[in-house]
Amino acid sequence: VIPPAGKPKWLRVKLPTGKKYTQLRGLVDKYELNTICTSGSCPNMGECWGEGTATFMILGNICTRSCGFCGVQTGRPSAVDWAEPEKVARSIKLMEIKHAVITSVDRDDLKDMGSIIWAETVKAIRRTSPQTTLETLIPDFQGIERHLDRIVEVAPEVVSHNMETVKRLTREVRIQAKYERSLAVLRYLHDQGVNRTKSGIMLGLGELEEEVFETMEDLRDAKVDVLTIGQYLQPTKKHLPVQEFILPEQFKKYEEAGLKMGFRHVESGALVRSSYKAHKHIH
Ligand code: SF4
Ligand code: SF4
Repeated sequence: VIPPAGKPKWLRVKLPTGKKYTQLRGLVDKYELNTICTSGSCPNMGECWGEGTATFMILGNICTRSCGFCGVQTGRPSAVDWAEPEKVARSIKLMEIKHAVITSVDRDDLKDMGSIIWAETVKAIRRTSPQTTLETLIPDFQGIERHLDRIVEVAPEVVSHNMETVKRLTREVRIQAKYERSLAVLRYLHDQGVNRTKSGIMLGLGELEEEVFETMEDLRDAKVDVLTIGQYLQPTKKHLPVQEFILPEQFKKYEEAGLKMGFRHVESGALVRSSYKAHKHIH
């Protein structure tokens, strides 16, 4: 256990570099494209963009939920922008993205919980960039099957939904979510024939090793194919504090255990974000 007094050296942010990165950065700034990579100042931008991967957020930037770890603003979201699917599709085309990750705020205020915009976005991207592969990192849609079915029908290569933390800490970390419901969503997606399902957790929130293993087992029971494990970092002082910086060898231990459990891919490391190396997870 390392007290979180200062960030350990393995969490030092690498400055993004590379020709592709510089070119994309120019486009994003010029056309004010909305990527999570830039708005969250993700440390992996140089690497991901260099490989043609980027993450886009849809359904606005105000969330109806208030997870204790998340930097997204909570409140009353703005009205749905029905032109958004085309706008996102245009951004992806302009940036020549090979693999796009789409995610959204939770829209518990909408009757369809945003699932129609979700499906329209995938369809618009398929029309304009048919070669681009897609991961949809979706909310739980409160576990309602008809909303989940809209995602299944448009057949993204990967569908992900993050557990974020272990069972015991779920209430504290994401108050409006439920551990069992998230597992049921993942299981349902698999049973409906989704090509690859994926989930992620953050460490350093006070979870114990055995609890991490328990969550990993639960995810395998739900037939999840891909697992990401990263270090939680506090977005602002108002968010949950970091309890622990996990050592690189501990991340490695989880990775090895995960592969033994039968996950197809495990990305486990301090700087891993759920969309890190996402292009590899389609196979
Ligand atoms: Fe963007 Fe995700 Fe890569 Fe970060 S890890 S740069 S958010 S695609
Ligand atoms: Fe953030 Fe998602 Fe929680 Fe909303 S539901 S607060 S976007 S993690």
